[in-house]
Amino acid sequence: MSAAEANWAGNIAYRAQRVLRPVSLDELRDALAGSPRARVLGTRHSFNDIADTDGVQISLAHMPREIETLPDAVRVSAALRYGDLAPAIHARGLALANLASLPHISVAGSVATGTHGSGDALRSLSASVRALTLMTADGEIVSVRRGDADFAGAVVSLGALGVVTSLELDAEPSYRVAQEVFEGPRWDDVLARFDEVTALGDSVSLFTTWSDADVARQLWVKRRVPATGLAPVDPDLIAAVGAVPAAGPRHPVPGVDAAACSVQGGEPGPWFERLPHFRLEFTPSAGDELQSEFLVARADGAAAIEALRAIARDLAPALHVSEVRTVAADDLWLSPSGGRDSVALHFTWKRDVAAAREAVATVERVLAPFGARPHWGKIFGMAPERIAALYPRWADFRALRERMDPRGVFRNAFVARLGL
Ligand SMILES: Cc1cc2nc3c(=O)[nH]c(=O)nc-3n(C[C@H](O)[C@H](O)[C@H](O)COP(=O)(O)OP(=O)(O)OC[C@H]3O[C@@H](n4cnc5c(N)ncnc54)[C@H](O)[C@@H]3O)c2cc1C
Repeated sequence: MSAAEANWAGNIAYRAQRVLRPVSLDELRDALAGSPRARVLGTRHSFNDIADTDGVQISLAHMPREIETLPDAVRVSAALRYGDLAPAIHARGLALANLASLPHISVAGSVATGTHGSGDALRSLSASVRALTLMTADGEIVSVRRGDADFAGAVVSLGALGVVTSLELDAEPSYRVAQEVFEGPRWDDVLARFDEVTALGDSVSLFTTWSDADVARQLWVKRRVPATGLAPVDPDLIAAVGAVPAAGPRHPVPGVDAAACSVQGGEPGPWFERLPHFRLEFTPSAGDELQSEFLVARADGAAAIEALRAIARDLAPALHVSEVRTVAADDLWLSPSGGRDSVALHFTWKRDVAAAREAVATVERVLAPFGARPHWGKIFGMAPERIAALYPRWADFRALRERMDPRGVFRNAFVARLGL
C-alpha cells in the first residue's frame, strides 16, 4: 500500500486514498472486497482524471507478468507495457499490427481508452484485442471473446467495468519497418492530395507547430520492408507537396534532441523499434506537456485541417507541436475511431493548464461541425451530451456498465460526468 501519486504529466494529483498493489488474483479479490470504490491504475499516462477515484487505486504492476504465444495471437498480463511485450514476442517471431507513438504505456490502460497509432489500414490498438479477462467488483472472473454479445462494448471500457487481468491480442509474423522524415510539406498541396499523402507508407504522420499556417513542419513515413527491399518514398509526390528529405534525425518538437526518437533515415529495423516515434529508454514527446486529440471522419479530415489552419495564430502560442494521423475504423462501441475511418488531430500543449484549456475550447468549437470525438485519455471540455450523441451505442454501454458493475465501484467522477 502507498499514497496516491500524480499522473505522468503531473497535471492531475490523484485524489485516491491510497494505492494497493496486489501480487495475485486472490489479493486482488481481497483488495476489491474491502473497497467500496476502486480504479485500476495503468502507467498513469492519461492527461485527465480517468484513472482517479475517491476510493482506492489498484496497480497490477506487481502481479505476475505473463506472455503466452499462440500461432496468431499473444495472451498477455494487463499491466505489461508495450515496450516490454514487443521485444519478447518479436524474439518468438511475432508482431502486433501497430503501436502508439510511445512504448511506455500499459496494454490494458491503452486498450481501455482506444489508443491508436497511425495508418490508413491500421486500426486502434484496442481493435487488436480478441479476448479479455476481467475481475468484477464482486471478485468474479469474466472472459469475453470477439463475437460474444458484450465484447465490442467491453474493450474500450474507460476502466469502468472491472479489473482487466489479461488480454489476448491478434499477432502476425514479425516484420521490419523503415521510417523516413521529410521537412516542409505545404498544406495546400498536402490537402489537395491528402489520400495519396497518407498512403505514402503503412503509417504516416504530419507534424506542425501551427506557427506557419501554410507549411507543416515534418512528414513522417513508416513502411514495412519486404524481402525485396523498399523503393524510395514516392519522390514525385514528395516534390509535389514541397517537402525535402530531412538531413539528419529529427524530433517533432522544435529544439528537442532527436536522440529520444526511434531510428530514422530509412534504416530498416524491427517493427517495435520503428512504429513508435520515441524510444523506451528516453522520455517520450516533450516531457513538459499536456495533450488533447480529436478524431473526425476521414472524409472530413481535409476540411477539419483547413478549420485548424484558420485558427493557427490562436493555437501556436500554446503548442509544442500538433500531429495529424489516420486510423482505420473498428467496431468497438466507445472507440473514438469506432464505425468510421478517421483522421486524428493531436495537440501537444505547453504545460500551462489555463492556456491549454482555452486552446482546447477553441479547437472544440471549430471541430464541432465535424462531429469530432475526443481521445478518452487526453484533455477535453466538450459537453457530455455532445459526446454521447457521437456514439450510437452509448446507451448500450451504460446498460453494460450497470450490469457488470451494479454497485458502481468503478464509476469515478470522469465516468459520472459523462452520465455513464
Ligand atoms: C507522451 C505520451 C504520448 C502518447 N501517445 C499516444 C499515441 O500515440 N496515441 C494515443 O492514442 N494515445 C497516446 N497517449 C495517450 C495514452 O495512450 C493513453 O492515455 C493511455 O490510456 C495510457 O495508458 P496507461 O496505461 O498509462 O493508462 P492510465 O492513464 O493509467 O489509465 C487509463 C485508463 O485505463 C484504465 N485501466 C488501466 N489499466 C486497467 C486494467 N488493468 N483494467 C481496467 N482498466 C484499466 C484506468 O482505470 C483508466 O481508466 C500518449 C500519452 C503520453 C503521455
